[in-house]
Amino acid sequence: MKVFKFGGASVKDAEGVRNVAEVVKRYALDDLVIIVSAMGKTTNALENITWAWLDGRPTANMVEALEREHRTVLIEVAPTEEAARTKLQGQFAALEAVLQDPPTSGVEFHYDQVVSFGELWSSTIVHAHLNAVGIVSAWWDARSVVRTDTRHRAARVDWEASAQGADAMWTTMQQAPIRVLTQGFIGGADDGTTTTLGREGSDFSAAIFAYLLDAESVTIWKDVAGMFNADPNRFPDTTLLERISYREAIELSYFGASVIHPRTLQPLQRKNIPLYVRSFLDADAAGSTISEATDGDTLVPSFIVKPKQLLISITPRDLSFIVEENLSGIFKCFADRQVRIELMQNSAVAFTVSVDDTPRARQLIEDLRGDYEVRHNEGCELITVRHFDEATLKRLLNGKEPLIEQRSRITARFVVK
Ligand code: ASP
Ligand code: MG
Repeated sequence: MKVFKFGGASVKDAEGVRNVAEVVKRYALDDLVIIVSAMGKTTNALENITWAWLDGRPTANMVEALEREHRTVLIEVAPTEEAARTKLQGQFAALEAVLQDPPTSGVEFHYDQVVSFGELWSSTIVHAHLNAVGIVSAWWDARSVVRTDTRHRAARVDWEASAQGADAMWTTMQQAPIRVLTQGFIGGADDGTTTTLGREGSDFSAAIFAYLLDAESVTIWKDVAGMFNADPNRFPDTTLLERISYREAIELSYFGASVIHPRTLQPLQRKNIPLYVRSFLDADAAGSTISEATDGDTLVPSFIVKPKQLLISITPRDLSFIVEENLSGIFKCFADRQVRIELMQNSAVAFTVSVDDTPRARQLIEDLRGDYEVRHNEGCELITVRHFDEATLKRLLNGKEPLIEQRSRITARFVVK
């Protein structure tokens, strides 16, 4: 059994949806779980609807626009699938019902109840199209398999409960049809609410399904040819990483390589399930293979540049040293605000971190101001180089004097302005 995951870019319009069917026909007709993200920029649009609703602003026009878009694609790719049209209509009605009442609970909870619709819509459309072209599949509600806690917007998987959900799916797959079409990104909690796994979480969903079903492989179909040693949109002469180890890929995605969601690899590694990253635009190209083998890992330096960094320096007001007691308080502030530390360094009197410049990070600075003197430097870049050589560092630093520099045997990191 294989798992194919199609991201938002690959199902962004009618042509993309048709291409899913082509890829399925060509590469894995049988024994397949297909996971889809929301179409194109739908998740962003749903986020905007959430914020508007929470602010008490009208949402009807935005919802209507999404409905028109989705209905148009459905009619184009599956003109005779009446049942799907009714189903899609019902799903939009369900969203409208959610938005009809004023929000009563936490932001994160409401976010999940709204934003999760994107995957329900796209999976309904792709399913209808597969049906229309004779590729029979079962539409599955991922929330019955991916069971999570109630940490909305960043839900954690309950693997035991999920294994039970997967059993039911597996039983169905033993009968015809053996193909299943389901959603990425969303999960279900015991209190009956919908949860999400964090933005771009559909890759992680693919890994969850693969793990639970002991899949033979996972393929992520993307609009790029695979995993590169640097972002091809930023650098002219990048190299495709044809074979990389789980370990190396985990490090790269942890440091910010945006090709795969960082949590995707651990479940796959545990069961030694290879991950292929391939382009749906050039489906015959081999792409990248991520597996246990480590022989390809050190061939080229890989680098990741994270722009818009805020370099924050935190000093106790009472002139005490930076020690465990105040560090644990500082870390708690970061955890509470859900601000991820990209890099950290401490001296006797200051603790310095680099974080993404977000409203949450700005809030955090205010929180810390009570006990600490906090200085910040905005507009910085965080550069990470794996398997560095001096030529690569020189080229990336481009004469700039780093504000922070950290080197281990394998990884060099810099904050520059
Ligand atoms: N649709 C969600 C997002 O855009 C999840 C995903 O695409 O992986 O973040
Ligand atoms: Mg997406």
